[in-house]
Amino acid sequence: MKSTESTHNLSLATKAIHGKHLYPFRGPVASPIYQTSTFRFENSEDAIRYAQGDPSVLVYTRYHNPTVNEVEDRIALMENGGGAALFSSGMAAISTAILSLCKAGDEIVSTPALYGGTYRFFRDALPNYGIRVDFVRSSSLEDLKNLISPATKVVYFETPTNPTLNLVDIEKIVNVTRRVQEKLRTQVTIVIDNTFATILNQDPFESGVDVIVESTTKYLGGHADLMGGVLVGTKQFIKKSKDLAKHLGGCADPFAAFLLDRSLKTFVLRVQRQNENGLALARALEKHSRVSRVLYPGLPSHAQHRLAKKQMTGFGGMVTIEVKGGVKAAVKVCDSLRVAINAMSLGGVETLVSIPVYSSHVNMNDKELARHGVSPGMIRISVGVEGVEDLIRDFHQALNRI
Ligand code: PLP
Repeated sequence: MKSTESTHNLSLATKAIHGKHLYPFRGPVASPIYQTSTFRFENSEDAIRYAQGDPSVLVYTRYHNPTVNEVEDRIALMENGGGAALFSSGMAAISTAILSLCKAGDEIVSTPALYGGTYRFFRDALPNYGIRVDFVRSSSLEDLKNLISPATKVVYFETPTNPTLNLVDIEKIVNVTRRVQEKLRTQVTIVIDNTFATILNQDPFESGVDVIVESTTKYLGGHADLMGGVLVGTKQFIKKSKDLAKHLGGCADPFAAFLLDRSLKTFVLRVQRQNENGLALARALEKHSRVSRVLYPGLPSHAQHRLAKKQMTGFGGMVTIEVKGGVKAAVKVCDSLRVAINAMSLGGVETLVSIPVYSSHVNMNDKELARHGVSPGMIRISVGVEGVEDLIRDFHQALNRI
């Protein structure tokens, strides 16, 4: 197997491990780290070739770095994108994507149930640059047709949502947007944050989404030891966002890229186990008397379980519970856990818990919290890969204390 065409037919696990390095590739089995900020020219001919636009000349790590490029190629292959761009964090990827697609006077339509950092970027930062964001409720996506105007350049959403694990109908977003776009004769880029589901559980390109953003700090990294973000899209979009990234400076560090390279090799194994543990823990917690609600798309009790089965191939490792007794009870549970760790973030091999009103949704007023469907007694659980019996026992003993 030589050609890149044949690599496209490989399974996700094989792509994640080998990338394009198939027989007869000669070289190291583990990719080396180009831990360098700059590259030595053989002579000034190299500098001239670079100045003339030759992309093969290595110059400076903020522009390109072989370790970073290796991971970008692998993720693009895994996600069936034209290309990928790696960043220093998920927020660097998101902000670079938005600023490469929008200028002053442009508009974005988004669903409001977003990662808190993205929501605050939209609410607090973008208006300063003349970019307006309108929000459409995910329960009434038909309203998109009234919100998309000739100035709309981006439709942005997340599914499942954080921390309520509601689903947004991907096909519907794409269909309504394309219909309006055709009518208005405009170009709208549909961007999804696929961090929660990952490519193992949800393939947005198959439904016609244009750009995937992901915080690689989470499931792709998977070990709570790196920060990163990635954009996946057409070659043209990736070039545009990489050009802007040179100015904004959110480039990935080679060491973080090396760690990510290592993590990708076990990505499928880890996330498959997180899917299994997530479902088992959700089922067990649903039966506990101190739990008023369990939000998990894989449960038949989830209001959008049918949609979950339609647009997801696995239900993920994120489970949100609402405990009886409000935020006090939630604090008591989090402080009583012995295996699960009280820490923000998600997607790693360790089970983490956090209270949304004190973490992702801090600094939001009651109206905003209600709009996001967030309540004080919620605990968001990022289920890890531990023995699930240990997790169930741990949550039971903590819940029994309230
Ligand atoms: N998107 C989602 C869904 C997230 O949960 C997060 C962080 O928690 C981000 C984006 C931002 O990623 P990062 O923290 O790597 O900047």
